[in-house]
Amino acid sequence: MISELFSELEHLKENGTIKDEENFSPSFDISIVLRDIFKLSKTDYLIGKDFTVSENDYSKALQALNDLKALKPVQYITGKCEFMSLEFIVNENTLIPRPDTEILVEYILNHFKQNSNRELRILDIGTGSGCIAVSLVHYLKNARAVCIDISEEALSVAEENAKAHKLSDKITFLRHNILSGFPESDFEFDCIVSNPPYIETSVVSTLEENVKGYEPISALDGGKDGLIFYREIINSCKLKKGGLLAFEIGYNQGGTVSELFNKSGRFKDIEITKDLSGNDRVVSAVFTGGITNNNLRNTE
Ligand code: GLN
Repeated sequence: MISELFSELEHLKENGTIKDEENFSPSFDISIVLRDIFKLSKTDYLIGKDFTVSENDYSKALQALNDLKALKPVQYITGKCEFMSLEFIVNENTLIPRPDTEILVEYILNHFKQNSNRELRILDIGTGSGCIAVSLVHYLKNARAVCIDISEEALSVAEENAKAHKLSDKITFLRHNILSGFPESDFEFDCIVSNPPYIETSVVSTLEENVKGYEPISALDGGKDGLIFYREIINSCKLKKGGLLAFEIGYNQGGTVSELFNKSGRFKDIEITKDLSGNDRVVSAVFTGGITNNNLRNTE
């Protein structure tokens, strides 16, 4: 019976094994995994409706509780995450989509809302779960996207997400390491978007256990100064004149990333957008053409 599991949980709460803290709310995560496994509505969960559960589901639930105790993110346990009001499949080969990244997607949607009848070509660099490209193509009806990532495993999750949202015919996937140069393309892009790894290598080991212990390090580590991907993309990207390059950035990278755009000499309208906590979160700029006048790759 599910009530047995609930009394076990009560016991864990009473003896302090499950304790909610400011940024960590295991009781909430537990409700998510249990509702997911037993297909329970919020109300049924809250009133503790009792019913018989299969042995298989019961052991799944116990495993999930152990995983939560070991700080595994709830999204990796359920294999799902909501982003831009859409559901995405995730696993440990992909970063968990963050609300901060919705600021980036909304910025781009807003930028192109006047042009929504025109066909738009988007390139998503380091697509991970594909959450950015899939949301953009879902909400911008005339958009198509190319998604690249260095990880084959991440690309197959992104492909599944495109399929789940019936966008497979509008999104293509390519395994490519952006640090080895800009990918070849038959057309110029209207928009390049990226939420690249941007954490300084020395800071990665200081991240919370639920992040560094489970999320792919290659999706987090932005090199010695955290800027390696911004430098490379700003330096090597090819866009339509007037096209948009938009990045998610770390809270303290607004100034340095704007400066990289500035130094390249081929962008205008450099703009920083803040997230809901008031931190710099997105830097974008409009492509004016030309080749970079500054070899950004060689500057640290
Ligand atoms: N584009 C994906 C996201 O925003 C993955 C980003 C990454 O792996 N750095 O979630």
